[in-house]
Amino acid sequence: MTTRTQLAATRPRSSLSRLAVWCALWCVSSTIARAEEIQQDFRTFKSFVQSAPDRVLAYARVKPLDRSEELDRQALEAVEKINRYTHLTEMPPPIHWADGLGSCAHPEAGLLIDRQQLVQLRDAIPAEPFPVLLMFVIAHETSHMRQYKECGRGVLFDVNRTRELELQADILGAAVVMTVGLREGWESHQRGVTIPAERISGTTNFLPTLGRLIGHPAWEDRTAHPRWDQRMIGSIVGYMGAMQKIVGENFIGLTKDGKTEQAEAVLREFTDYDRRNPFMPRLDRESLAMERGFDWSARVARVMVQDGFFYAEEVRKHRARNSVPEP
Ligand SMILES: [Zn+2]
Repeated sequence: MTTRTQLAATRPRSSLSRLAVWCALWCVSSTIARAEEIQQDFRTFKSFVQSAPDRVLAYARVKPLDRSEELDRQALEAVEKINRYTHLTEMPPPIHWADGLGSCAHPEAGLLIDRQQLVQLRDAIPAEPFPVLLMFVIAHETSHMRQYKECGRGVLFDVNRTRELELQADILGAAVVMTVGLREGWESHQRGVTIPAERISGTTNFLPTLGRLIGHPAWEDRTAHPRWDQRMIGSIVGYMGAMQKIVGENFIGLTKDGKTEQAEAVLREFTDYDRRNPFMPRLDRESLAMERGFDWSARVARVMVQDGFFYAEEVRKHRARNSVPEP
């Protein structure tokens, strides 16, 4: 089982490399890992993103995926499901194995996923169903593809926004896992439907574990990744928000179908959840539209990376504003 201590024992010498080992389980800055081995062209994240896709793929010594292999099939399936249910990208992005590089995303070359990282994660979190973990990693990187499209590739060069963008990718990653699960037939007992208990405990228990595994005080550096508690809370809010969005969409569908009574019941459920939990996606009842997942996650991430952010306090203030008594 890989532990932080073991990871520390293997960490390379340069500070960039150390940062990457500690921080970059699925992060863009992992592309600057192993600086001593990296060609001049790829010394910085900026030069990586600005490079032509064929140069990136050649450098990363990528391997194409082969659907006859089990892991490859699971990864391709994850990419397709993410596209089918969440439309983070217009088309499913290209995906390649880039072992030892650190998982990352290039605006044209697509997703570069590091199988060594996947194995480390799988071994560290054995209770977690591996396809869920895999989907989370792929969804996180696919979120970066969406960020390139929405914000331009330049936004990722702004070191003051690194934590915010990484946290948004965590929020969206978790939201995708939940959305795919719900769309494929999981159901929530709280939200009017029933999710098999083993699926829920399997997927929700791994976020705190993951957070502890990848957490390190070096992340306090404003140019690095969010703290582990921020990533953990962000992921959990991602789960909750995805569920809330589906409830809101149910309301919209029922309203459009003229099923007023059922729609009102679902709306009460939606509103009650919203009053109790901050950072949920918004429902516009006039235009019958839910807030876009990208806008919602950006809005939430922006607040969560602020100095002094404290989730429990946000919940308390939110409930006080809505006159909801604490349990
Ligand atoms: Zn990332």
